[in-house]
Amino acid sequence: MAKFKKLPKNSVKLLKRTLKYFAPYKMSILISLIAMAVVAATTGASAYLIKPALDDIFINKNSEYLMLIPFAYFLLVLAKGAGRYSQNYFMTFCGLKVLEQLRNELFDKIICLPLKFYEEQQVGMLMSRVVNDVAEIRGSLPAVVKGIRQFLTMVALLFVVFYQDPYLATWAVLVLPLALFPFIHFGRKLRKLGKKNQVLISAMTIFLQEKFSGIRVVKAFANEEGEKAGFRVENSRIARLALKQTIVGQMSSPIMELIGATGIGLVIWYGGSQVIAGQQTAGTFFSFVAALVMLYDPVKELTSANNSLQKALAGAERVFEILDSPEIVVEQDGTQILEEVHEVSFNDVTFSYDKTGQPALKNININIKEGEKVAIVGPSGAGKTTFVNLVPRFYEQQEGQILINGIDSRSLTLKSLRKNVAIVSQDAFLFDTTIADNIAYSSEGCSKEAIENAAKAAFAHEFISEFPNGYDTVVGERGVRLSGGQKQRLTIARALLKDAPLLILDEATSALDSESEKVVQQALENLMKDRTSLVIAHRLSTIITADRILVMKNGAVVDEGTHESLLANSSLYQRLYTLQFESHEELL
Ligand code: ADP
Repeated sequence: MAKFKKLPKNSVKLLKRTLKYFAPYKMSILISLIAMAVVAATTGASAYLIKPALDDIFINKNSEYLMLIPFAYFLLVLAKGAGRYSQNYFMTFCGLKVLEQLRNELFDKIICLPLKFYEEQQVGMLMSRVVNDVAEIRGSLPAVVKGIRQFLTMVALLFVVFYQDPYLATWAVLVLPLALFPFIHFGRKLRKLGKKNQVLISAMTIFLQEKFSGIRVVKAFANEEGEKAGFRVENSRIARLALKQTIVGQMSSPIMELIGATGIGLVIWYGGSQVIAGQQTAGTFFSFVAALVMLYDPVKELTSANNSLQKALAGAERVFEILDSPEIVVEQDGTQILEEVHEVSFNDVTFSYDKTGQPALKNININIKEGEKVAIVGPSGAGKTTFVNLVPRFYEQQEGQILINGIDSRSLTLKSLRKNVAIVSQDAFLFDTTIADNIAYSSEGCSKEAIENAAKAAFAHEFISEFPNGYDTVVGERGVRLSGGQKQRLTIARALLKDAPLLILDEATSALDSESEKVVQQALENLMKDRTSLVIAHRLSTIITADRILVMKNGAVVDEGTHESLLANSSLYQRLYTLQFESHEELL
């Protein structure tokens, strides 16, 4: 597994970087902040209103206030409601936009990573980053804003209590520093748990992805029970952690409440004695207590804002790991544009999959001319697949050069290079979409007629037309099941439509029934016509009709020539011929 570089655990930096994503939505954030100020001010004002209500209506019996205060209260609640609604709306809007943006960035990075990366990472882990981790980040700004709102509300309420009675207020807020302790302590704990949670969810995604795609093996070995047990382990880990998160999250509230109650108790004791002694009006006292009780809410909310923020930062850490990691370099791109292919040369090319291991290709020197059909044969593990994979730069050689029309392939743009190479491999992979879209994959905007012509040349038109929906039939997971031969012909049609001058073909080893075999063979012949072809050969007809055959062994080309000359001179070729090809003769 490629190791990710760990980010410094600097929350402020992390937060700053996360919040940068919200920068394009300044207007929405501004409206949100104004709305937030309205909410804070109206909360403070409604606490203040209790004083004139009690003193002027109930004690002084002023009928003018009797009309005014209920109306003022109604207006305050209206403004508060509108403020809260706008704040939530605009915050959610920004959050979703940022989520969208981050998902795009992640996908853009991941899809451009070299094949090597995919071989080293579990697909489920990547899926989990794009689906789960990134979603947590969305909560960062709303949590910050919520925190600010609660803070402002707190300030407004504190203003009221100090305005009503500074002496009494001092008693009440004496306990506030105490309230900070659980706030910080639980916040830290929650962040840790949040990160762990993301790891576990990622593990479960990896598990599911692997088991579902390997379902045939699971069933063939009748290991459903084993897999069930495995899943239970993953699942119970997540459940236990979620419970822990809840316990820690919930613990902070009662502790804060207790601290709050201590303050309120002190106030009732002291303020009550003052009212009894006639030194203060009941109105002031109740207004004071109301503000104090209301204070409890923002303090509590501040805790929950902190909880969401910690979760968001835990997600951000994992997402930025991918976006930043220098080990995950996006494919190196050249600048020259390749228009046509006239010649492909390997110039002393050596390649190994990992730096320390045995090279999979050793000092390969080959020159392929335009229109040539070159077959590659050799025992399994000889390096045939590796050899052809270097041409479109799926991997990069450590030594030597691959020249296309005399230009080092590393100085060509990957896009233009790969545009000129059509690949038909053994596993005929089709996407979960219509037949037409599969044939026209990456050839957007091509006409229906072009798709049909490609299908005809690939001998696929006939069976496609037999489906009720014809070219609009969905194949793959949601659609019809195609036979091996049919799938192959669709991938051949796809390559035909791409119409690239250089063809790389990995012939299927598993023999189709002789009828399909013949049709696929004819389709392939159409595909190879007038193209420079590099074919990993498993069929006699291919080697017989090839212009040249390369015989590979242990990463090197050991013999080279036509079928006849190799049969006469190469002992390895003779052996291979007897073992692999002769038996296929009857199929031709
Ligand atoms: P062939 O196609 O002739 O069967 P390959 O090119 O697939 O041979 O393999 C050549 C050598 O490289 C083998 O020793 C194989 O184990 C190794 N190899 C192939 N693919 C990888 C890979 N993705 N990572 C590491 N080693 C690989």
